[in-house]
Amino acid sequence: MRSKIVAGNWKMNKNAMETATLLKEISGKLPNVKAEVMVAPAFVNLAEAVKQLKGSRISVIAQNMHFAESGAFTGEISADMLLSIGIDTAIIGHSERRAFFHETDEILAKKVVAALAKKMRVMFCFGEELNERKSGQHFTVVKNQLKNALFSLDASAWKHIILAYEPVWAIGTGETASPEQAQEMHAFIRKTIAGAYNSAIADEVSILYGGSVKPSNAAEIFSKPDVDGGLIGGASLVADDFLAIVKAI
Ligand code: PEP
Repeated sequence: MRSKIVAGNWKMNKNAMETATLLKEISGKLPNVKAEVMVAPAFVNLAEAVKQLKGSRISVIAQNMHFAESGAFTGEISADMLLSIGIDTAIIGHSERRAFFHETDEILAKKVVAALAKKMRVMFCFGEELNERKSGQHFTVVKNQLKNALFSLDASAWKHIILAYEPVWAIGTGETASPEQAQEMHAFIRKTIAGAYNSAIADEVSILYGGSVKPSNAAEIFSKPDVDGGLIGGASLVADDFLAIVKAI
């Protein structure tokens, strides 16, 4: 059965001390839920976060990684570096990486392959922009994002993939896809994967929703049959909000 997951993407927020404080607040009150709980602090705070959360039910994941094994890529972080500090999961393809750092489907496909080659798990993010939804292209856009970055993978790779559908118009905007819109897209994603591979793979992959999830809307979004949890941005920076969202799963 596919896992339920709630993950907090802290983006470029929280310095070392603030990271330690927030982790303490979250881990101290973490409800006993049947779901994986993950947090993605900034790169510089990952190693300390792993140490601090040792023995807790929260795992620490990375917000990004580079596709090369090593070399002259100033400012970048490799899969081996993450693994060496105890991190085995990386978010790849977040819309902010696509928009601000020009990460194309081609680059993302390379990152996915590089992570999987090191036996890492990938949380792959994708989703349409507002104009694409308004013009009715959202299903085509999402299908192409999946095809370009993931559909060349062997079927066996899919057990290491987590999907996060994040409509760009709902990220950090306070606007959320309705639970019905989320369910409609998640069901479409599953159908698309079943078509490209088979229904067993489609049924097993966890598909998270991301985009202004908060305590007030989490339970309804998570109640939809094809929504397996959430990738949470802003609300993951406030312990009580994140904990309420975890409770909602
Ligand atoms: C995100 O950036 O992945 C995200 C979902 O952000 P927010 O919850 O703030 O919309």
